[in-house]
Amino acid sequence: MAQSKISEYAKIIRPQNFDEIMMLAERVKGKRVKMVNATAVGGGVAEILTRVVPLFNELGVKTKWDVIKGSGPFFGVTKTFHNALHGAPVEITPEMYKIFNEATEANLAEMTFDDDVVIIHDPQPAGLIAAREKSKAKWVWRCHIDTSHPQPDVWTFLKGFVGRYDASIFSTPWFARDLPIPQYFIYPAIDPLAEKNRELSAHEIDAVLRKYQLDRSRPLITQISRFDHLKDPVGVIEAYRLVKKTINCQLVLAGGGASDDPEGTQVLNRVQEAAAGDPDIHILLLPPFADLEINALQRASTVVLQKSLREGFGLTVTEALWKAKPVVASAVGGITLQVIHNFTGMLVHSIEGAAYQIRYLINNPQIAKKLGEYGREHVREKFLITRKLRNYLLLFIALDNPGKDVIQL
Ligand code: UDP
Repeated sequence: MAQSKISEYAKIIRPQNFDEIMMLAERVKGKRVKMVNATAVGGGVAEILTRVVPLFNELGVKTKWDVIKGSGPFFGVTKTFHNALHGAPVEITPEMYKIFNEATEANLAEMTFDDDVVIIHDPQPAGLIAAREKSKAKWVWRCHIDTSHPQPDVWTFLKGFVGRYDASIFSTPWFARDLPIPQYFIYPAIDPLAEKNRELSAHEIDAVLRKYQLDRSRPLITQISRFDHLKDPVGVIEAYRLVKKTINCQLVLAGGGASDDPEGTQVLNRVQEAAAGDPDIHILLLPPFADLEINALQRASTVVLQKSLREGFGLTVTEALWKAKPVVASAVGGITLQVIHNFTGMLVHSIEGAAYQIRYLINNPQIAKKLGEYGREHVREKFLITRKLRNYLLLFIALDNPGKDVIQL
């Protein structure tokens, strides 16, 4: 599907919000921005950049997107760092820091930074700040991880890089750290006009359900996620089994991998073992860009589950809420910004809790419908890409006015 035009968003958001974006864009027109992350596909960061970069260009902000290169061991290290920053206990060795630094050096040798603003996403490329002395750009580190309780050794290592940036961005003030640089807060967001989120016809949804042999006449519980331990896919199966004791339902666990996530195959094997023997558990291995399929699966679900153990934000939750789906999700990280318990969805703390709420929502479709409707409006107000564009534009203006508490627009 072609990239949406900025004017199309005027039909979805409030007119004054749309006008504000156009006014701010006028102020920063011509600025050259470079986004850098670790994967072109898979996971929330790539998802956001795919949509944001063309829209910025349309607004006159000349935006490029580079992806760093790395070996298997490098991405093994950065995944371990990722888990440690989310607070999961992991063992860190000096060799890991060495692998990280060597990959950073290799990328530095190949990359150029002749832009006005460089935005580095997450820890994997954080060491590129070493190029700062040779560039005139303002450097911003954008963190998508819940860093509220990081493992101290990894955070100390990373802070050595982050402290040298001009500014940082976190998804919410809850993740703020003690840093010597300004910290800005920008929510992640979804694009309502993307293939993954656009309205679908019943015909389109049915075609996807047929493709995966799902039965429309029985309740469908779905979790869409990379096969990652922190998404707790085995916990999802256990919750489903508790529901299944009283409700004849089906489970879809759908996901693919990300090129910067080497743990996927291992987790997938464990999930397949846990699901063995139950034809109502559908483990779907999705290729990259399975956006229409994900959209249809979310829309066809009776309940969308996100049983994460840790979560930076959880775009899959945003996607489900936008589709007015009842969501049951763990009360972790950025999910709690999105799911207001008993209002825009149900927050849970355990497998048993998840099973209880799924059962409750399947048995009370009127309540499920109301939650979904409120969820959609919550996303419209806070978590659409237009709000993100606006906040980035404001950030660009703030970067041009360092040290000022008040900027007259
Ligand atoms: N996603 C996808 N294919 C998959 C699994 C996930 O396109 O097989 C998308 C999903 O729809 C969402 C994003 O990747 O847009 C995942 O973002 P989230 O914040 O939920 O989790 P992350 O993977 O970044 O931890």
